[in-house]
Amino acid sequence: MTVIDLRSDVLTRPTTGMLNAMTSAPLGDEQLREDPTVLALEEELVELFGQEAAVFVPSATMANQLALLCQVGRGQEILGEQGSHMFRYEAGGPAFLAGAVVTGLPGAAGVFTAAQVRETAQTGDSEHRPRTALALVEDTHNVSGARVWPLPALDEIYDACAGLGIAVHIDGARIFNAAVARDAPVAAATSRAATVAVCFTKGLGCPAGAALVGRAGTLAPARRLRQMLGGSLRQAGVLAGAARYALEHHVRRLADDHANARELAARLAGAGLPVDPAATETNFVFMDVSASGLARDDARERLAREGVLWSNAHHPGTLRAVTHLDVTASDVRTAADRTVKALRPP
Ligand SMILES: *Cc1c(COP(=O)(O)O)cnc(C)c1O
Repeated sequence: MTVIDLRSDVLTRPTTGMLNAMTSAPLGDEQLREDPTVLALEEELVELFGQEAAVFVPSATMANQLALLCQVGRGQEILGEQGSHMFRYEAGGPAFLAGAVVTGLPGAAGVFTAAQVRETAQTGDSEHRPRTALALVEDTHNVSGARVWPLPALDEIYDACAGLGIAVHIDGARIFNAAVARDAPVAAATSRAATVAVCFTKGLGCPAGAALVGRAGTLAPARRLRQMLGGSLRQAGVLAGAARYALEHHVRRLADDHANARELAARLAGAGLPVDPAATETNFVFMDVSASGLARDDARERLAREGVLWSNAHHPGTLRAVTHLDVTASDVRTAADRTVKALRPP
């Protein structure tokens, strides 16, 4: 039995085409700005994101933390949805590295409103309140189920923040999933941001690599800060070559991952399992096994014994399946059958 691994989209291995792109990429020393593949990738990203500058980094976590170090002073505040990856899964980096106060706003499917920003932001000269420096938007929003920000809601955030003098950072680890789901260019969501983090190891299928893209002025200290964090690389074109390959070959196909996830959700819901197909906007499927009275770890083990791997979602009692490059439409049908079989009451 071939195990179908739906734990995460980071599990993909580089394809032969990608490996060839990596081994044939022209290389140089990136710290000296002499790696032509990194330079070409950064230029492509600037263009795609409607921005001014880009910095290649090893991971999106580093891109996010670099964004804070570039624009949030010690004791200043970041406003973002309360389940944001930067707040919950980056090991306390915002407090440890930038010295930031994080304020979590309750969102709906990862989306908060301009009204919430206006009500919460502290922009005056208070002797008591931390000054709000940054609004954080996560698109797609991971813990709510890889949900997509609607562009009008995002534009309202940009308008509100421009009025308040607050910068906007997009944690766009999966921004290409969002763009494909919206059927709109990436730049439609990112051109007004001060900074955007993007990850190449999720749906794009690279073994490592990410970037921080944004305003040239905001990113002026980024390379020095990257050096401080230990994120400056040498012949990084090996990785940038994979990213360039992914931009060319793995973006449009994200629509297949989304279709596969919708198919999985529909089949499970159709079989009476606690899945809400309307919540699958991109490549995640959530299943609230607590609703069936089953302990989550027991359910996960039963599924693994049937040859389908789910992971724990952020929400208690909920399991997560993620479609990706290494999961075919036929795998998804098999995974649905195995899931139904594993969770059928004895
Ligand atoms: C995965 C993820 C990150 C971190 O990406 P890495 O490249 O693994 O460090 C940041 N934000 C979100 C929303 C993510 O899903």
